[in-house]
Amino acid sequence: MGDVLDFKKASNKERARGRTLCNSGFHKWVIDNKKQFDSRQGRLVTVHRCKRCGKTKVTAD
Ligand SMILES: [Zn+2]
Repeated sequence: MGDVLDFKKASNKERARGRTLCNSGFHKWVIDNKKQFDSRQGRLVTVHRCKRCGKTKVTAD
């Protein structure tokens, strides 16, 4: 049982660390939608989503 508890503790710590990184602006970006047309910008953009907190950002290529 000790192993299970240790594993839980470690994963909680890992999640907390991820949140701290996100709060500091260091998100884990993955490409969510490549080459989407943004009508506001009038051009193709790439949508990135943070794997940890779900925040999105859009970059122009
Ligand atoms: Zn994030």
